[in-house]
Amino acid sequence: MGIHRITCHFCSMQDYFGLSGENLFDSVHYDSNNVIKAHYFGERRLCPRGNFCVELAQHKQRVGYSLIDNEFVKGREALDTVANSLDTVDKSKIAILLSGSLTLEEAFLAGKLANKWGTKFVSQISPEDEIVAGFMNNFSFASLPQMQVIISVGDIFSLHPTMAKFIHDARFAERNNFLTTVDNCSSRTSRYAWCNLKASPGKVADLMEALAKAVSGEEYSIDNTGVDKDSFQQLVSTLRDTTNACVLFAPGVGRFSEPLRVGFWAKKLAEARKFQFSAFATGANGKGISRLLNTFDFVSTNEVISAIRSGDVEALLALGCDPIESFPGLYDHFKNIKFIATTATLPTAIVEIADVVIPSYHLFEKSGTILSLVEKLTQLDDPFP
Ligand code: SF4
Repeated sequence: MGIHRITCHFCSMQDYFGLSGENLFDSVHYDSNNVIKAHYFGERRLCPRGNFCVELAQHKQRVGYSLIDNEFVKGREALDTVANSLDTVDKSKIAILLSGSLTLEEAFLAGKLANKWGTKFVSQISPEDEIVAGFMNNFSFASLPQMQVIISVGDIFSLHPTMAKFIHDARFAERNNFLTTVDNCSSRTSRYAWCNLKASPGKVADLMEALAKAVSGEEYSIDNTGVDKDSFQQLVSTLRDTTNACVLFAPGVGRFSEPLRVGFWAKKLAEARKFQFSAFATGANGKGISRLLNTFDFVSTNEVISAIRSGDVEALLALGCDPIESFPGLYDHFKNIKFIATTATLPTAIVEIADVVIPSYHLFEKSGTILSLVEKLTQLDDPFP
């Protein structure tokens, strides 16, 4: 089987590493040759979450068989049940929610199917990833350590941990690099920052707007943002003195009350001084999937969720995602949907209530295409079997 070069599916850093497991499924003998092992290439490393891919590949609770009403069935029977059940509902009221860790090919097929049914309720599971998809990135990993200023909007070290290496390389390279954080609380990232602009809860968008306007020489106000005027002015002066900076926008999930406004002004700040810019999705391919779905005439994630809340959805297909874990407050609304089918790798909450469960692969077990942070299409062509 050899070593397969695979991509971590946990976040948009898309770090790659190797997995091997000789004779894993062919031998009854359990020894060092038939356990799954991780391999690292050069300086490339994973964060602890990424290393969990090794465990996921052999997780003992892996969904291995199709289920109907929590009973094991053959795959064909499960698929027939999905088809027959969907025939009994109004097809324009079928909703499809997609994980950000699917391939573009899978998302395209889901979109095509939804078009055929005439439903508009199709979206990626994370509203923030949908927002991030609207921003084009223009940065390179290689140039990050050369930056004079790096502005992290959100907690990039927690959300995308391997970025820490590039940022620390800049910070410790004796280039007078200033790491700055803009956030609503202290964080792992802010601990290392020269300047931490900590806005009052709900005021990060106002603060980003003020920062972008101040750097552009426009009128601004930081009243009610909770930020210290001296720190703000010091940062504005530093940013006006350089074009060698990068803005990293990492909204995560539910961190900012107005993530779109925060991202808009973060991008404006970057454009005002020709800084580099990168917006980070939470899903490995969250940005790519949202952009692809935008080419269809579908509604947003929030609109799909509203339709579920108001009972306008008769059937739900959850492809690789768990809407209950993403929106736990809507548990009863999900339970009231007439028919739910899900593709799943692990027995999460949606598996408990789904009428039909179909086992699926992790991203690192699939072939296909994903969109990278540097806006390039990446082929996954060496899946772990
Ligand atoms: S930073 Fe993201 S892509 Fe990299 S190993 Fe961690 S979770 Fe995986």
